[in-house]
Amino acid sequence: MPTCEHHVIPAPGVARINCDAIAHNTRVLREYAPAPRHLGVVKANAYGHGGLIVARALIDAGYDILGVAQLREAIALMDALADSGAESGAGNRAMPTILSWILPPDNSGRGGVDGDAIAAALSRGIELSIASIDHLEAVDAAVQRLRCRARVHLKVDTGMTRAGCHVNEVARICAEARSCPGIDLVGIWSHFARADEDSPEGIAATADQCEVFDTAVEAASAGGFPNLTRHIGATSAVLWHREAHADMVRDGIGIYGLSPNPARCRGVDLGLRPVMTLEAQITQVRRVPAGTAVSYGATWVADRDTWLALVPLGYGDGVPRAASNRARVRIYPSNIDGEVVGRICMDQFVVALNTETSSTETSTVDDSDATPPVAVGDRVVLFGDPTSPRTPGCPTVEDWAQASDTINYEIVTRIAEHVPRIAVGDATDD
Ligand SMILES: *Cc1c(COP(=O)(O)O)cnc(C)c1O
Repeated sequence: MPTCEHHVIPAPGVARINCDAIAHNTRVLREYAPAPRHLGVVKANAYGHGGLIVARALIDAGYDILGVAQLREAIALMDALADSGAESGAGNRAMPTILSWILPPDNSGRGGVDGDAIAAALSRGIELSIASIDHLEAVDAAVQRLRCRARVHLKVDTGMTRAGCHVNEVARICAEARSCPGIDLVGIWSHFARADEDSPEGIAATADQCEVFDTAVEAASAGGFPNLTRHIGATSAVLWHREAHADMVRDGIGIYGLSPNPARCRGVDLGLRPVMTLEAQITQVRRVPAGTAVSYGATWVADRDTWLALVPLGYGDGVPRAASNRARVRIYPSNIDGEVVGRICMDQFVVALNTETSSTETSTVDDSDATPPVAVGDRVVLFGDPTSPRTPGCPTVEDWAQASDTINYEIVTRIAEHVPRIAVGDATDD
C-alpha cells in the first residue's frame, strides 16, 4: 500500500466481497441442480470479485473444481492457492482441480498453441480443454516432454459458434486421443448461446444444442470413451434447463448473486444475494446556485440551488462512463440518494443530493447558512445489497447495468484490478 512517510494512504474506493453471500448462493444453486457436480467459474478475476477470495470461498463451500478461461489465470490461481494454503498452515484447505479452456497461441514463430504454457499448466495438474487434433498434439508433446499425464475435456461447438470442434470431428479426435497414452480424455463439453431466454426461439435453440451435444456424446462413446463427464450448462441452465444438467454444471454469475437474465427474473427473486459492494468516501461537499454546470461538456446544469458531493472513483476504476447523468448512489450515514450529474470522469464523478431545497432562497450561495446533508469522508455506495443493514436502499449492479446499457456481468467484471477487494462476512460491519 502506498505510504507518505508513516501515513498509509487509503485507496479511493474498495470492493467488499461478502463470502457469506457466496456460500448462500452456492447452496441456492445446488438446490436448483442437486444431481450434477458443480464447477465454480472464476474467470476474469472471478467476475471482478477477486480470484483468490472467491476461489477460497468456493472451496470452503465444497467445490472441488474451478474453471477459468485463460491458461495464465489458471496457473496464477493454482499458485496463489498453493501459497495461501501454505501460509494458513497447509492442509486446512484442499487444492481444487482447475479447468482452463483457452490455449494461448505460440509466439516463437512455430505457430499453433504455446507448448511451454501447456507444460506449465500440466505440471500443476491443470485440466485443459481441446477442440482440435492440433490441440491434442500440442498437449501430447508437452506430456511426452514432462513425462506426465494430462486430463483433457473435448469442447464441441453445438450451435453457439464460438469455440469448439464440429460434431463430425469428435470421432476422429477421440481416435487420436486413444493413441496418446499420456492423455486422459475425461470430459466432453459445450456451451449454450440462449439458455437464459424464455422465448420460443431461445427454448428451441437450446433444445437444438442439446441434440447436437447428445450426438457428440454418442460419437465419443462409440469412439471408446463411454464415461466422459458431460457438461454444457452454465447458471442459466442450472436455473432454467433441468434437462441439460448432465454430469456437471458450470456455475458462474449465480455465485456472484446476479441473474443471467434479470429481465426474466432478478437475482433477488431467484433467492440469490449480491456479493460485491462498491464503495468510496466523499472527498468534497459544496452547494452551487441554480444555473451551475457540472463536469466536462456541461451536460448537467443545476435547476435550483443544489448540494453536490464528489466521489473519488471514475472510469479509470471501472465505473462506466455511460452511466453519466443516469445512475444513482446512496450515501451513509445520512442514508440519502445522490444522482450522478454531469459526465463521469477518469477518477471522480459528482452527485447531486436529493434534499429539499427551497428555491425561494437568494441565489447567492451562502454555505455558512446551510447545513450540508453529507460530509467529507461519508461512505458512498455505488452498488451493493439493498437489503443489507449496512447498505439499506443502495442501488444494485442491475441498476448500474441499466444506466449504462450493458449487462450485470460487465459492471462487476470491469471494476479495475487496482481497486482493493476486501473479503467480509455478514457479521463484518466496520
Ligand atoms: C462464463 C462461462 C460460464 C459461466 O457462465 P454464467 O452465465 O456466468 O453462469 C460457464 N462456462 C463457460 C465456458 C463460460 O465461459
